[in-house]
Amino acid sequence: MAVASLGIANSNGDIQPGFHSVSETQPLIETTDHGAPHAAVCPYCALLCDDLVIAPKRDLSFTITRNGCRRAGQDYARAPLANTPRIAGREATLEQAIRAAAKLFKRARQPLFGGLATDVDGMRAVIDLAERCGAVLDHAHGEPLAAMARVLQTRGWFATTLSEVRNRADLVLMVGVDLADRYENLARRCLRPAQALDDATLAARRVIYLGSTPPGALVADCESMKCANEALVDVLHALLAALKQQAPAATRVGGLPAARITALADSLRASRYSAIAFAPGRLSAPRDPALALLCEIVDELNRATRAALLPLGGDDGGQTAVSTCAWLTGYPLRIRHGQQIDYQPHSNATAKLLADGSADALLWIDAYGRLGELPAAARLEHSVVLSASDNARAATAAVFIPIGTPGLDHAARLVRTDAVVSLSLPAQRDSGLPAVAPVLRAIEAAL
Ligand code: SF4
Repeated sequence: MAVASLGIANSNGDIQPGFHSVSETQPLIETTDHGAPHAAVCPYCALLCDDLVIAPKRDLSFTITRNGCRRAGQDYARAPLANTPRIAGREATLEQAIRAAAKLFKRARQPLFGGLATDVDGMRAVIDLAERCGAVLDHAHGEPLAAMARVLQTRGWFATTLSEVRNRADLVLMVGVDLADRYENLARRCLRPAQALDDATLAARRVIYLGSTPPGALVADCESMKCANEALVDVLHALLAALKQQAPAATRVGGLPAARITALADSLRASRYSAIAFAPGRLSAPRDPALALLCEIVDELNRATRAALLPLGGDDGGQTAVSTCAWLTGYPLRIRHGQQIDYQPHSNATAKLLADGSADALLWIDAYGRLGELPAAARLEHSVVLSASDNARAATAAVFIPIGTPGLDHAARLVRTDAVVSLSLPAQRDSGLPAVAPVLRAIEAAL
């Protein structure tokens, strides 16, 4: 692709040469010009709800007319960014911005590619560019993602899927999940769906909440065991002891009566198929003790009945980034490209590389516009930002390139939180904003 021809993007997010309008080059899916509601897959958390109905507005934002949630309502209500790249805060053409980014990466000794909130094609381009530049890869949610990878690598686990929970679980224990913050539609689609394969299981299903933010009215008939999330490790210890028929070590744990924890153990043992849903990002750091206990509880239950974990994470393209990186390199992020791939889950962390100054160039990708400002330790003069949001600090980076959101401004493929399904999301509007992949491929071509 000739950099000089860079202009606007079509509905696949590809940069189109010349001056054709997007509608001349490729039609978008139905009715975006007419305001009629139509189906959509939501990209704003890793549940990827595929039953939304959205209606376009004049400013290219959307109203959700069916099956949304509060988070999606806010995000779909955002109009796309003005399509103006910047170099050190000054307006520039896309071609100039791409050349400036290539120059910055060319002279860097140790580039860091962070954020990584993008889609499958975007991650493919990230990995190709990282190979050329010798870059380190880490996601904005790298800490919980790395903790989950450690569990998988060191001990393995019993994990289940959203469909299994919806159709098979007769008891769902939610540990520390805050449905008001994210995964709100888990309640409607999995915990209390209108229908499931087995109506008897659905009718008998118990949902029990353990943690600091019970879902309240979001989940009908939810039994709440409220305790501080910081106390979850102690409560999970006590639960594991109760499952092993050991006498409680204290009368109260994390503010909960020991008898209540013993009753929970009895309920789990008595269920035919229990699922334990948790959000790794909501567990207090260090996460490893809580994750180990959750795995041990499920191991213990599987001696006599059936149980599995449902990890809820991988938002902002996190699961997509991990899965794509694993397909292409064999490693789950936090890798450094060089003569060979160097996987270091601790020393290749964004916060560490920025704090100790070993990263001298940063590529920060936020295609969902949800990551907020750049990491505090990022040096603006060394940063190239590809973002769907123009936060004040990011907009004054060495290079700022506005990009589209996967599944809104361009067609995309994303991996769902349970990592067993990837969904295809069509474009929903004609913003002219490019996708991550063609921008990175143009930077690579200009190196
Ligand atoms: S639960 Fe997540 S995927 Fe579903 S509508 Fe809400 S933000 Fe979108």
